[in-house]
Amino acid sequence: MRVGGASDVGRVRTINEDAFWFDDRLLIVADGMGGHVAGEVAAAVALETVKEAIGSLRLQPGAPVQELVRSAVREANRRVFERARRDGLDGMGTTLTMAVVVDRVAYVGHVGDSRAYHIQKERMVQITEDHSVVAELVKTGGISAAEAHTHPYRNLLTRALGTTPDVVADLYSVSLDPGEGLLLCTDGLTAVLTDEEIYRVLEQCRDPDACARRLIDLANARGGPDNITAVVALVEES
Ligand code: MN
Repeated sequence: MRVGGASDVGRVRTINEDAFWFDDRLLIVADGMGGHVAGEVAAAVALETVKEAIGSLRLQPGAPVQELVRSAVREANRRVFERARRDGLDGMGTTLTMAVVVDRVAYVGHVGDSRAYHIQKERMVQITEDHSVVAELVKTGGISAAEAHTHPYRNLLTRALGTTPDVVADLYSVSLDPGEGLLLCTDGLTAVLTDEEIYRVLEQCRDPDACARRLIDLANARGGPDNITAVVALVEES
């Protein structure tokens, strides 16, 4: 599997509170919140915790990966929450979307409104569900997906990392066939590009780094109203 990624401050914000990390089997994106340095700290603490929990493990087929993902996210939550309390940073928190790939199965853990997508041969499927007020409104039929992009509540999360003493991550597992892949991204990408537009870039993707940068360029061409982060993984054709 080949993995690449990029992050950009965008065209409006002055600091980048998004963070990402990857190696050849672990992908992470986080979108920090809380203003000033709080968001950056929250995202960084979450990333460090997950890297520490998963990064050094030898994961053989049959390893309890989903359990490891669940406890890594809980530990990240605990550490961000503790840090916020220690430093008196009210409202500090972050999204966290991560994937560990073992034996061509992606184990995804997720809190917040960053996203994981399964890149397939003919389409792209959103794996995660946003923990946001607008996602719930779309689900219950209150507003359309297009209206969600401009809705006044679009930044309100229903679940975030580090804002409560404990958190429950959504967990998913997805089989990756040869030629398929994963996209993890923050809302700075999905707020300005449709899934269709994102897929048009990814379906031709051979170099994950170049694809992540191309997605960021497109989001910036749409005004880049938020920080933008994309991590792309591609499973080789057999
Ligand atoms: Mn964002």
